[in-house]
Amino acid sequence: MTDISTSAVHATTAALATNTPRRFYRGGERIFAFRGLEAPSDFDGYRPEDWIGSTARLFAEGGGGVTTLDGGRELPDAFAADADGWFGEAHVARFGGDPNLLTKLLDSGERLPVHSHPSRAFATTHLDCDHGKTEAWIVLVADPDATVWVGFRDELSAEDLAELVDAQDDRLLEALNPIKVSAGDAVLVPAGQPHAIGEGVLILELQEPTDFSVMLEHKRFGLELDHAFLGLERPVALQSVDHGPVTGERLETLRRRWADVVDFGSALPDEASAYFRAEVVRPVTGDVTVGAAYAAVVVVDGHGTFTSAHGAREVRAGDVLLVPFAAGDVTVSGDVTLIRCMPPAP
Ligand SMILES: [Zn+2]
Repeated sequence: MTDISTSAVHATTAALATNTPRRFYRGGERIFAFRGLEAPSDFDGYRPEDWIGSTARLFAEGGGGVTTLDGGRELPDAFAADADGWFGEAHVARFGGDPNLLTKLLDSGERLPVHSHPSRAFATTHLDCDHGKTEAWIVLVADPDATVWVGFRDELSAEDLAELVDAQDDRLLEALNPIKVSAGDAVLVPAGQPHAIGEGVLILELQEPTDFSVMLEHKRFGLELDHAFLGLERPVALQSVDHGPVTGERLETLRRRWADVVDFGSALPDEASAYFRAEVVRPVTGDVTVGAAYAAVVVVDGHGTFTSAHGAREVRAGDVLLVPFAAGDVTVSGDVTLIRCMPPAP
């Protein structure tokens, strides 16, 4: 039994409903399918992201995105009421009462525009924010030949980059490294690296908790220049973009096969750990117990049992849980794979 008066104050493990703000690009069907839900009757084909455990808001496009818990409480209010319970004292001492993480499911119903995200240093100087937006993609579903693009293959001068952005044609995409992806792949995208996600991919995405994007390619998506360049002068916004080159060798260091993890282990390259952690839990040799942590838990395959100080619950593919530090150690059993998305270690 849940005591409403208590759960309203203390951090409690919560199953999350979908939270799919309208965006400027198509997608969303793979999210509803993955979550085991019918698309809602008002689904308009433009709900390509499910924002999980979100305290962040869209930079434009209506400013939605904050997660609401069952009962209607907005997540920032719940966090404020019991930060130690949600995050643990060490996290609060280092990061404050903020998750320091945004997690999303993203379904690319069409190719996304070539864009990049500012670094922490750039955001601090120009956007009055401590967070940049390094991000990582954990591929859950991919059409055959699905492709993503990361980093310029060759070094560009500032003039080359400005010219490509002026032209708004296919040369921007063609200048990037294409990477074929399949379910089980993971890719880290450091802040500053231009990138794009091709059509037909469902990814679990971790990122620093902002919505800062420099939309290098904006015309074909009808984006306002103010939105495309974060309200900055274009030459200033373009200073946040890495001019390359990103070599094949460098790309290898940004990739990992999360599907190869046995029992538990990181889904992402080590370099990600300064920004966030994604831990695959898949009991193979026996039940797996992992330590207490604030986590957005996404069950990506199978079904099993998830047991913590908040009790045991059956979980299955498509379930999403928000798990507070106060839930303590977690034991996972069954034929199930889940991914714990967590802030950096305090
Ligand atoms: Zn991005």
